[in-house]
Amino acid sequence: MKILVINCGSSSLKYQLIDMSNEESLAQGLVERIGIEGSKLTQKVEGRDKFVLTVPMKDHKDAIAHVIDTLLDKVQGVIASADEIGAVGHRVVHGGEKYASSVVIDEEVMKDLNDFAVLAPLHNPPNIIGINACKELMPSTKMVAVFDTAFHQTMPEKAFLYGLPYELYKENHIRKFGFHGTSHKYVAYRAAEMLGKDVKDLKLVTCHLGNGASVAAVNGGISVDTSMGFTPLEGLLMGTRSGDIDPAIIPYLMDVKGYSYEEVNNILNKKSGVLGLSGVSSDFRDIEDAAEAGNPRAKLALDVFHYRVKKYIGYFVAAMNGIDALIFTAGLGENGVETRAEIATDLEFFGINLDKEKNNVRGKERIISTDDSKVKIMVVPTNEELMIARDTLALI
Ligand code: ADP
Repeated sequence: MKILVINCGSSSLKYQLIDMSNEESLAQGLVERIGIEGSKLTQKVEGRDKFVLTVPMKDHKDAIAHVIDTLLDKVQGVIASADEIGAVGHRVVHGGEKYASSVVIDEEVMKDLNDFAVLAPLHNPPNIIGINACKELMPSTKMVAVFDTAFHQTMPEKAFLYGLPYELYKENHIRKFGFHGTSHKYVAYRAAEMLGKDVKDLKLVTCHLGNGASVAAVNGGISVDTSMGFTPLEGLLMGTRSGDIDPAIIPYLMDVKGYSYEEVNNILNKKSGVLGLSGVSSDFRDIEDAAEAGNPRAKLALDVFHYRVKKYIGYFVAAMNGIDALIFTAGLGENGVETRAEIATDLEFFGINLDKEKNNVRGKERIISTDDSKVKIMVVPTNEELMIARDTLALI
């Protein structure tokens, strides 16, 4: 069976068609600038040149129709009929407290997703638009929702509750949810396979370091804590997001600087993190280049970022009373040789010892700790699309 995986953003859409008989990716693509002038679809197929289609796409339905046409195209395509798409797996950011695992989409699920939109106003609405567009274009194809929050639903109360009035949890659902769950789960299970161990016997700290970044404590195959919270703003500092700050800074800024709610929100989400500190860029490559060229604020931004990741590793080692493996994934975790070296330095106390030679790797699975390191350090490229496809297949 072939499964189409869709990850819908507000003006973009990523897709992948996966043949589940061998878990091979047949085609991967990205549609950008949906509903904006200059809409563009890019598709990659192993062994072929990249295909680029620039046509106006007025909405997500239009975009998905072009995705299906491209998959079916006589020259650029990879399937002969739309019937070959056995099911569609959708990445959905927020599943609230109700969904601790993936689910076949029916009317009740759609109602819940709409209800959860208040919890993830930037993310859930485009996910819903993507699902509706697929349903219109492929009315008889089964659809599955795979939630970013689901893997973290195993967190105990002591980890997910904030020190706020309890009614705010009960009535307004204010609690830690955590995100990037599909990625944390994939790399935790894959790391166990690489080590030839049962994930149930392992205490793992997984570091998903991309534009958005989070750390998770995975004990015995389940998430017991994670750095992101009620929203993806908590925890590590990120490309443009502040991560943890003293909440009192918000009313202080509104008072002293006269900022509105929107301005504060914009600062915390779009102007902070390594961009805000460095003044250079939100992209770690640019910041590393600037730091190397002697820019002191770029160096400072990296120092603050590395230190914050280290602190979370420490929290989670304490939370699990130990650690068997430290795992790096996502753009920066998979490729950032220097980043991994900085984070893994001075953690020898925990039995974490990096092998500098082995660490010289980008985007490939590898154990990068010294042979005698008590704790394994690992690079495990994430594959959220494959996880989504596997869950989709299992459910239908
Ligand atoms: P997201 O999916 O959250 O948008 P990614 O997982 O693609 O993000 O990660 C993007 C980040 O990874 C960027 O900050 C980028 O600079 C960083 N990155 C990608 N490749 C490298 C590299 N070779 N060296 C350092 N950083 C890298």
